[in-house]
Amino acid sequence: MAQGVLLIVCGPSGVGKTSLCDNLLKRRPRLTLSVSYTTRERRGEEEDGVDYHFVDEDQFQAMREAGEFAESAEVHGNWYGTSMSVIEAAWQRGRDLLFDIDYQGARQLKERVPTANAVLIAPPDLITLEERLHGRATDSDEVIEERLSAARHELAQYELFDHIVENDDFDRAAGVLDSIYVATRHERHIQARWLDEILQQ
Ligand code: 5GP
Repeated sequence: MAQGVLLIVCGPSGVGKTSLCDNLLKRRPRLTLSVSYTTRERRGEEEDGVDYHFVDEDQFQAMREAGEFAESAEVHGNWYGTSMSVIEAAWQRGRDLLFDIDYQGARQLKERVPTANAVLIAPPDLITLEERLHGRATDSDEVIEERLSAARHELAQYELFDHIVENDDFDRAAGVLDSIYVATRHERHIQARWLDEILQQ
């Protein structure tokens, strides 16, 4: 199987992970977002097949039992999963993949593909994260408390990750994430195939 870069980006709600991922996808056309399957309801402008593949609980569990997911996890009461066929199709097209998934998914994906690279986006401190969550003004105090406790738990899993990026300043963090992607693209296991071809000429 052809192998491209698998870059996993994790981080608690409110840390700026989605904006950082969007920024990286704009900078690097070779990189594609892996579109996950989920049982959660569609929000606002979200499109089926673009933001997520929206499926019901029965469909999701049938795919899970059939071993179609490279990883799957329950996050905030909904199921999410990455289809193995999405990874294979991307590799066949010579594409690199970006995964915006939670730490449970990162753990499973790294077990399955040990060369996958995982990045944890961390807030400068928990007070800043709480302020950002309040700034969204969409969630109740109770939901914010739950998110903060989940954030603490997710950040405590830092040993799973190859890189940790503090999002203290968006442009700085976006630059660091881009550098990590570029370095990953130049890892030996990615470049070896091209070098082998040259050596056979
Ligand atoms: P949201 O519902 O807000 O889009 O995502 C909630 C959380 O689920 C985020 O932390 C997101 O990274 C995570 N997530 C999204 N897709 C997947 C997936 O395929 N697998 C796993 N394990 N987590 C996912």
